[in-house]
Amino acid sequence: MVEASKLWFEDACSTCRCHELIHPWTYRCSDATRTMLISCIKGSYKFYAMVYLIQILMRGKKLGKKEMLEQFKLYLKSGVFGLTVGSSFVTLNCIFRRLFFSEFSYYNTVLLPCTVSGLAVYCEPPYRRVMVLNLFVNLVFEYWVRTLEMKGWLRRSPGKETLVFMLGSALFFYLMRLDRDNDKRTPLFWFFTPPRVSKETGEPVTGIHGKSPACPHKEPCINYILKGTAQLFGVGCAMTMLRTLIPKILTPVKAFKSLKMSHMKLGLFFGGYIGIYRLVVCLLCRAHGKDSAMYAIPAGFLSGLAFRASPSTPISLAPVTSSLQILGSWGYQKGLIPEKWPLVEILYCLCQGLLFHARVMHEDVCPRYIINLMHTVTSSKADEIQSAFIQKMLKYASG
Ligand SMILES: [Zn+2]
Ligand SMILES: [Zn+2]
Repeated sequence: MVEASKLWFEDACSTCRCHELIHPWTYRCSDATRTMLISCIKGSYKFYAMVYLIQILMRGKKLGKKEMLEQFKLYLKSGVFGLTVGSSFVTLNCIFRRLFFSEFSYYNTVLLPCTVSGLAVYCEPPYRRVMVLNLFVNLVFEYWVRTLEMKGWLRRSPGKETLVFMLGSALFFYLMRLDRDNDKRTPLFWFFTPPRVSKETGEPVTGIHGKSPACPHKEPCINYILKGTAQLFGVGCAMTMLRTLIPKILTPVKAFKSLKMSHMKLGLFFGGYIGIYRLVVCLLCRAHGKDSAMYAIPAGFLSGLAFRASPSTPISLAPVTSSLQILGSWGYQKGLIPEKWPLVEILYCLCQGLLFHARVMHEDVCPRYIINLMHTVTSSKADEIQSAFIQKMLKYASG
């Protein structure tokens, strides 16, 4: 498949002029740069408004005035990152073509400029770079899984994905609990952070009331478990509601009518995930009278069952990706990876190049997130470029 599309692409597109392929909406390169920039300013700030809204929601607590201002500054920076990446695709192609290559080729049309434009990740503060890298590595895994599936080497199913998520969660929660004792904690974006391993010990507790002295929380176990469940259930439902309601915000009556029971699935997943996790850890603490990071393994594994309520390929892989992130940051802390190496930034560039390349050349196996991301950030200019590619290929195919 890869070979075929490489040959096809080069036969159909290599001799194109850049306005025929890269900026089909205008002839002049300077014009293309300007219009692309304007589209991306709009698109990027719109996209990050959603991202920041969800992040604030997921934190589950109110923001003070100072934190709001801080978030707003970060939002502005992220916007610059997005619009630079989005708008530079066209400009870099025009420049590269004029300076280095006279023809479009499979690798230097998308892969190369999009790898270079990944350097814009320096607009983000270091801890956000790590989080963006985490997301993109996860998307690369998803892209690989989809590619393998297309080649017939494996088959995705909700059951298998749940198992992957359960195993991943077991590992990830264990590593997270170990990481809690580190001075330099890895910045992670997860549904919830498990508390530090409690140092208290006591006698085993029976019955359902009260708590064990070893429990890593203050209130009675039942309150602790139910509170977490309700909170994340609410967050899950709120996220689904936002996603369903925002496009229909102009017709509120219709919007509310469109809410269904199935919109609670995400809430069930979130709530169940934290609920089962807390339940298992509490039961183990009560039975043994002491806490241990190891409890995260059975707790993480079983809590992963909740994923079955709302399965999706990218989320099923996310605990594994985040585990790799923790291991990577330990590598930095232990000096296995020299601190000066810009490993995060380089990896980000590579992932971005690969994924955007997949968007154009292998649309059928490209993660949905990337397609939506490019569509939103470029205010649908990416789709215009994509259809120019497809048209060229079709024209070529039909002779
Ligand atoms: Zn041009
Ligand atoms: Zn407890």
